[in-house]
Amino acid sequence: MKKALYGVLGVLLVILIVFAVKVVQVERGRDSVQDEIKSKSFSKLSPFDSVKKLSLLPLVDYYGEGKDIRTEPGVSYLIKADDTVILMDTGYNEKKEHPSPLLSNMKTLGIKPEDIGMIFITHLHPDHLGGNEEFNDHTFSLSRGPVKLKPVTVYAPAEISPSKWNPGPKIEVIKEPHVLRPGIASIGAIPRHLFLMGYTEEQSLAINLEGKGIVLIIGCGHPTIERIVERARMIFREPIYAVIGGLHFPVNGGRIFAGPVNVQWLVGSDTPPWKGLDEDDVRKGIEALKVVNPAVVSLSSHDSSDWSLEQFHISFGNKFVELKAGRELNL
Ligand SMILES: [Zn+2]
Ligand SMILES: [Zn+2]
Repeated sequence: MKKALYGVLGVLLVILIVFAVKVVQVERGRDSVQDEIKSKSFSKLSPFDSVKKLSLLPLVDYYGEGKDIRTEPGVSYLIKADDTVILMDTGYNEKKEHPSPLLSNMKTLGIKPEDIGMIFITHLHPDHLGGNEEFNDHTFSLSRGPVKLKPVTVYAPAEISPSKWNPGPKIEVIKEPHVLRPGIASIGAIPRHLFLMGYTEEQSLAINLEGKGIVLIIGCGHPTIERIVERARMIFREPIYAVIGGLHFPVNGGRIFAGPVNVQWLVGSDTPPWKGLDEDDVRKGIEALKVVNPAVVSLSSHDSSDWSLEQFHISFGNKFVELKAGRELNL
């Protein structure tokens, strides 16, 4: 009996120590990330050019449309910009399946892996890399079995290797704003020190749609929408036309729970848990977006609660477009 009690006390002590270390790290990390961001300035991307046609088809997200579409709290979008077909992130595949929800939805939607001309990884988290193991191994996968891809380039914000399932792709690490194709760019890696996940760099995709402006496509939104918009305004002359994707607002709810713990809420902040993310952060995010007044706002449900989605809907009215796996957005 005594032994069991000591065992429990020991485990609690370890949890307490890890927690205390994380608190110290997040406080220090937040300051150093702030200094890092302040020390960087970028000139306008030139020549940047534009595309004439742009569509975005969510292949994986928390909500989907149609009974054959599989859903999960992860992200994968297929973006067609003129002739360039981009796969942004590769879903979560939490149950390590083959075919994965991503591969299964691609089949349902008539998308062949060979159609993909470029892979863009926003950041190295499990819900964007195709699984927890992929996250641990610094790799990514479309499914837990071979998927035939063309020899495409993978643009990632940090070091990553091709997986055994897709050994072909060439990896290019992007740190600074970078034109990928005429009219298509990465806004560059923006860091944030997250409580649970530590130092995380995330890049967003920016596409200049002729006559309309910049379409910003965001993975998890960890750097905060304020900093993403700030970066976009620094490097582009064109106005921001649309903001699409994850902004990480698991406030008053979330999509991934460990028992009663809202994991995304714990993961997504650069403050200790007792400060955490709150309704005020959602309001600030909305205000930051209103300043640039995009014509289209489409928020991913994979890392934002229904409450947050509703706040965006109320604030942006008919500019707010529901984002669902299987529903194509023509911009
Ligand atoms: Zn995410
Ligand atoms: Zn993330």
